[in-house]
Amino acid sequence: MRPSRTRRRSLQALSPVCAVLLFLALPLAAQTTTASPADDPHDAALVRCFGLQRSEPAQAIAIAESLLADGALPVLAEIKAQSCLGMASALAGDTGRALAAAERMEQLIDANPQPNAVALRTYSNAGAILHAAGQVHRALALYDRAERIALAEESEVAQLTTLINVALIHAENLDDPDGAETLFQRAIALSERTGTRDVLLDYNHARNLLRLGRQREALAAFDAAHAQAERVPNTLMGHRIDAERTALRHVLDGSTDARDVLETTIAAQRALPDPAGEAISLTLLARTELADGDAEAALRNARAAEQVAQSDAFLRERVDAIRAQVAALRALQQPEAALDQAERAHTLELGALRRLNLQGLADLQARLQDADSARELERLRLERQIQNLSLDRTRLARNWAVGSLIAIGLAVLAFVLFQRRINLRLRRLSTLDALTGLINRRAATHRLDATLANGVPGASARALILLVDIDHFKQVNDRHGHAVGDLILTELSARLKTGCRPDDVVSRWGGEEFLIACGQVTLDQARAVAERLRAAIADVSFPLPDGQRVAVTISIGFAPYPFFPDHEDHGAEAWQDAIRLADRALYAAKHSGRNAWVGLWGHDADGTDIDSVLRDPLQAERARRIAIVASRAPNWTGDAAADAT
Ligand code: GH3
Ligand code: MG
Ligand code: MG
Repeated sequence: MRPSRTRRRSLQALSPVCAVLLFLALPLAAQTTTASPADDPHDAALVRCFGLQRSEPAQAIAIAESLLADGALPVLAEIKAQSCLGMASALAGDTGRALAAAERMEQLIDANPQPNAVALRTYSNAGAILHAAGQVHRALALYDRAERIALAEESEVAQLTTLINVALIHAENLDDPDGAETLFQRAIALSERTGTRDVLLDYNHARNLLRLGRQREALAAFDAAHAQAERVPNTLMGHRIDAERTALRHVLDGSTDARDVLETTIAAQRALPDPAGEAISLTLLARTELADGDAEAALRNARAAEQVAQSDAFLRERVDAIRAQVAALRALQQPEAALDQAERAHTLELGALRRLNLQGLADLQARLQDADSARELERLRLERQIQNLSLDRTRLARNWAVGSLIAIGLAVLAFVLFQRRINLRLRRLSTLDALTGLINRRAATHRLDATLANGVPGASARALILLVDIDHFKQVNDRHGHAVGDLILTELSARLKTGCRPDDVVSRWGGEEFLIACGQVTLDQARAVAERLRAAIADVSFPLPDGQRVAVTISIGFAPYPFFPDHEDHGAEAWQDAIRLADRALYAAKHSGRNAWVGLWGHDADGTDIDSVLRDPLQAERARRIAIVASRAPNWTGDAAADAT
């Protein structure tokens, strides 16, 4: 274990990396700061290079190139120079040069064994360069090697880096901001414990909060990132954070000078250069202009953003820019053109998804989990606190969301009446999950908001919410590979869909989790639906590409909405209670041995509230407030929080 003062210093240099997917890498340069420049004539130049790589990439490239031109660099110095060159090139949008540098680093370290500390940093940094250059799969392989060494070395700082990088893959490549949020929270807890809070963690976390629609929290996180960037000056990060804060303040508080500030920032980013940052800012500017009613300018800047983000490595930025064009074209009453652009964005994303081979991700995550197990208790305690906090926040955010949904809904309605067919196609493109073809979580949420707001109090038939989770799906991936896992997800989705009525909501709720909502059903019908779905998966094994078959099972939890028939509180918020209850039932099904279903069914509230049912379902059943139904005896005692992660 290193002394904390040394650690703190190296932490300030912890984040020499940011790119399309702004993430961390470990400071190779920190290795050199213990020696005086006189010890090695290259050290001074390397320290300068690392100091500039993310704030002035063009200058960093020049320094690294002149070092490498020397031809007779010692191995360690060349690794460092390549690392600096690779990341600065990725940032500057020169993917070819970045990839070549990462490959050279791998060659050098494989041919010239180095101490663990150096090997760890080399793998981590080469991975970060590949990650920045859009080669997620290759990046994962290197993170994996770095992580193995970090575990052996008990390096928490290195663990933190991997945690954040994996969170970014969830956020940016898997379209899984919920999963990313869990990882970010773990990273934040770890960084607080180790005293290594960094600007990139706050920045990336803030962007993920935006994806989750939690704008106020995102602003707070951007403010925290801003404070960090002031403390340890960083031009590139400073501009990126400025742009996000400005645009977000405009959305939340209607600040007036947003467009001017964004234009100044964009000019500075062009000069650096930081093409990914520039594209992000141009898209933010376009969205701001659109909100101000200037759709022409919005379209112009969204197109400019796409131009800047041409490199393959900037796919996420390019897709965002195209989506901003779609919004502007719709405002300009050009639905055909909007549709073309939306299809283009969809195709780009699908292509990226197909290229992504994330076989290594599950293993890496599993090991990150193992390393954490010693701290499991503390983590659980923290997570509970966070859950309690985020419940409050979700309520706030929901209230806000309902208001804006109504406003947006009215505007959309007028347009839908005008161009109905085109809009249907447009909406389908953004609401379908690319892998399974089911509607995605966002679309399901909208549909439930719209359809469940008018529950029928007092009726014995209620709406039914089922949560479905594949059993031991990680093992399926581990045994047969991620591609086979994808195939199974697709077929399983089709079977679920076939097992439901055409107007039921069947959605992909998360990775291997599905939410199904059915119209008016009685308790007996609910049991029949759950059993039918369980059997549809368990009774027929799944074919593999090699001709073999594999057995897959699911567990199901369900609850009706409204949960109590005489319940007064309907509306967009209340059906979330049914989801919480279904989730509780799902974990009871898991703990009962899987391949099972469990349902909670409210009879008569009479003073009982949802929270007390969640806390102790058996007590509520004894008091005859609810019925518990199950395909086999449920087990309520397992720790749901532990399994949810
Ligand atoms: P449990 O029975 O407790 O639910 O076990 P589990 O292994 O299913 O649960 P866990 O949540 O640990 O693992 C879920 C796995 O689902 C891990 C993740 O890699 C996999 N997964 C999630 N999304 C996808 C996907 O799109 N494709 C593939 N192939 N796997 C996915
Ligand atoms: Mg799951
Ligand atoms: Mg599962």
